[in-house]
Amino acid sequence: MKLYIGVDLGGTNIGAGIVDEEGNILIKDEVPTGASRPFEEVIEDMAALIKDVIEQGGYTISDIESIGIGSPGSIDKEQGKVVFANNLGWKHAPVCKELQKHIDLPVYLENDANVAGLAEAISGACKGVQNSVTITLGTGVGSGIIIEGKPYSGSHGVGAELGHIIVQVGGVQCGCGNKGCLEQYASATALIREGKRVAKSNPDSLIGKSVGGDLDKITAKVVIDAAKAGDEAALEVFDNYIYYLAMGIVTIVNAFDPSVIAIGGGVSRAGDFLLDAVKKKVDEHIFYKDIPYADIRLSQLGNDAGIIGAAMLGRL
Ligand SMILES: [Zn+2]
Repeated sequence: MKLYIGVDLGGTNIGAGIVDEEGNILIKDEVPTGASRPFEEVIEDMAALIKDVIEQGGYTISDIESIGIGSPGSIDKEQGKVVFANNLGWKHAPVCKELQKHIDLPVYLENDANVAGLAEAISGACKGVQNSVTITLGTGVGSGIIIEGKPYSGSHGVGAELGHIIVQVGGVQCGCGNKGCLEQYASATALIREGKRVAKSNPDSLIGKSVGGDLDKITAKVVIDAAKAGDEAALEVFDNYIYYLAMGIVTIVNAFDPSVIAIGGGVSRAGDFLLDAVKKKVDEHIFYKDIPYADIRLSQLGNDAGIIGAAMLGRL
């Protein structure tokens, strides 16, 4: 059985694990990123974490095929560089070369959302199909497109930002500079924003009641739980959320016609309540009514997708 190291490089923590060729994590660990330090120091800690995980597992470097890293931001795969990553504060960071100063193994680098999509394609919700898209509904909306079994990151390494598909021209201002991006309607952040808005104008709604009137305590789960309980104000927010999410998914189907679209991230913990609603709405708006289209599913790997997908870069 071939073994690979996967590294999930985040703004807060670095996770690393040993993953077998079927995408199972054998052992994993993490350390704080300390992203404000010089980049060389972060990579030194990453190297130490990798060596530590190998030792904890009872292996040696020679048992490992390669190291894969999933990083936020835009990536130059050929050069092994993080071109730009806002939450790390890095520009043109030669991550692969720097890590190889500490460990003599092939090192691969890819965007973290693409890596999560790859993980779902290899051992998660999209296992067994060649073309899939994974979207992650969290603070923002992330996405990973897998075509013919490989992550698709475009011609300039900045694909695929499906969270910035425009679903409402002239809509809510987005951090990317445009207005009306999917992220502004289908993220957990959007659900919280709209939950607060309706809780304010409907003081009797379950949303406000379940946080004891302290609207700053509203989370995506609070809004969804209130909708599940049948609260009218929460259902209005939820239905609107589902509408925009479905519009994003219809656009993804029209652009890529994948076999599976997997939905992950914090909001996906709403489970079948979310899935059934979004499937119904997509079905109403799909273009080709008589031809099968993407099966919409919940992601399966959760936070492990980062480590698994990064490791599997070495298997491509
Ligand atoms: Zn945007």
